[in-house]
Amino acid sequence: MIQGVRLVILGRQGAGKGTQCVRLSNHYVVPHISTGDMLRAAVREGTELGRVAGEIMNTGGLLPDEIMVGIVGERLSRPDAERRGFILDGFPRTVGQAESLGAMLSDSPLDLAIDLDVPRELVLERISSRRVCRDCGSNYAASRNEPPTRICDRCGGDVVQRDDDTPEAVNKRLDLYDTQTTPLINFYNAKGLLAVINGVGHPDHVLDRLVAAIDEARDRR
Ligand code: AMP
Repeated sequence: MIQGVRLVILGRQGAGKGTQCVRLSNHYVVPHISTGDMLRAAVREGTELGRVAGEIMNTGGLLPDEIMVGIVGERLSRPDAERRGFILDGFPRTVGQAESLGAMLSDSPLDLAIDLDVPRELVLERISSRRVCRDCGSNYAASRNEPPTRICDRCGGDVVQRDDDTPEAVNKRLDLYDTQTTPLINFYNAKGLLAVINGVGHPDHVLDRLVAAIDEARDRR
């Protein structure tokens, strides 16, 4: 069986991180751990964490490091992650979280932190053309000059642009991402753990580049 792996994936919204994390998770047979997904699940379930997280997420802010380190620490201590490894998506978001992660993993450190790089103009274009069905959540890419609403092919619901996918809102999220992530990129680069992978092109080619970089990093260890 293929060896497991321990990865952190960084990348702008719209860089294709979600798609590639699922593929990498299947390839290396390790859990894809997305802190955004975990928090959204807590909000849906109405737990105490969900109540706190919901308020902060609505304002676009970050949850406190102690809470996030607790959640991720618990998840990483489960047998699948302990035995095979993990792909962390959305964590760490701050240098404090990265330091705590390093402390948690002292016996079996990260193989690699990957910056999935897609130029800002391109992700802006991708996200600005994204349309979502209000009823079933299916994603569509709008073509130029398309009318603002259309009907979903799958369920007949209204296909609209999300409120937070307008160019102004997306630009704001991308600014925040750049400010938050630059220190993390520097942190992993200084440790010799960073690989910048070109995320432009067909998803199969992007996956090939990722696997090549990950396998090379593991062979070096
Ligand atoms: P994401 O789906 O990764 O964009 O996360 C959605 C939201 O969840 C973020 O905007 C934050 O409010 C919160 N969140 C997710 N991961 C973290 C983290 N590592 N640290 C703090 N807040 C987080």
